[in-house]
Amino acid sequence: MPIHTLYPAERGNLRLSFEYFPPKNDEMETQLFQTVENLAAFNPAFVTMTYGAGGSTKARSLTAVRRMIHEAGFPNTAAHLTCVGAAKDDVDAIVSEFIDGGVRHFVALRGDPQGGIGARYEPFPGGYENAAALVAAIRGRGDFEISVSAYPEKHPESPDVATDIDMLKRKVDSGATRALTQFFFDNNDFERYLERVRRAGITIPVVPGILPINNLTQVSKFAGLCGARIPEVVVARLAHLDESPEERFKEATHIAAEQIVDLARRGVRDFHVYTMNRSPLVAAVCDLVGFERAAPAAAASRAAGAAA
Ligand code: FAD
Repeated sequence: MPIHTLYPAERGNLRLSFEYFPPKNDEMETQLFQTVENLAAFNPAFVTMTYGAGGSTKARSLTAVRRMIHEAGFPNTAAHLTCVGAAKDDVDAIVSEFIDGGVRHFVALRGDPQGGIGARYEPFPGGYENAAALVAAIRGRGDFEISVSAYPEKHPESPDVATDIDMLKRKVDSGATRALTQFFFDNNDFERYLERVRRAGITIPVVPGILPINNLTQVSKFAGLCGARIPEVVVARLAHLDESPEERFKEATHIAAEQIVDLARRGVRDFHVYTMNRSPLVAAVCDLVGFERAAPAAAASRAAGAAA
């Protein structure tokens, strides 16, 4: 058995979640909801919808989240929310809009500084100073699930991993119930990080973020910005395949599937997959790992249940 596929007994209690971003136009919206429908077959435990720092996608995120909950059949859609560059009242108003729209799960984030990743972060006057403060505010509104970020290779602004874990602890003490990690490609980084997190007394689930590499150039650029490392061995497997899309797709599928299988064999049960709003690669990875697909009828009844 190749190492990118789990034995049936190993995959029984694994759970997936999928991350999407709000569409910018009608064409992207069609693509998003087609992707959501295609991936619904894998029966994700929850899905999440990102939010542009500073509220740049506020209306689009709200619309997409409402549609996920009420039309696409995902009542467990988590709304990302950032607090950077906004006054508390404005953030609180958005929380209310999400709650009114049916949201029961938030991904509470500070967001990148307004000058972009690498710029100096300044709390907004009268705003929430960081993600921990936002978590506390959402917790004050009710019994919601609150996920937060975590960084196995540390956040670029952080002087060291210990500082990063302190921040995670503050978020947990404020009411966070789950951490979703930045993507990473070396499972040893995740395992070492998780050991330190547990030693710090943090007991919430820490769910690894998996990014199947659709486009190595784009992912390398993004990884550079957010402090994630792409191991040489991964680069070597993909870099020469630029001109061979089919081979590249196959190799990218194997890389992500191997990562998931290895994590599962290290005891990980939950996987948060960055979909980039596209289903073919993510579906191929899930199939290769051995995640079961629900019958089309089950997916249809999910959507019908939402519409009822
Ligand atoms: P925090 O948890 O508040 O801080 C992040 C890190 O910065 C800390 O761990 C700490 O190391 C360091 N830090 C912060 N304050 C201090 C301090 N005072 N002293 C020392 N160190 C400090 N961005 C979006 O715009 N929209 C999204 O929807 C979105 N979704 C995301 C989902 C996930 C799962 C992840 C991992 C990231 C996401 N991001 C998103 C990116 C995120 O907004 C950025 O990484 C941002 O720079 C930090 O936000 P945070 O919530 O992690 O901040």
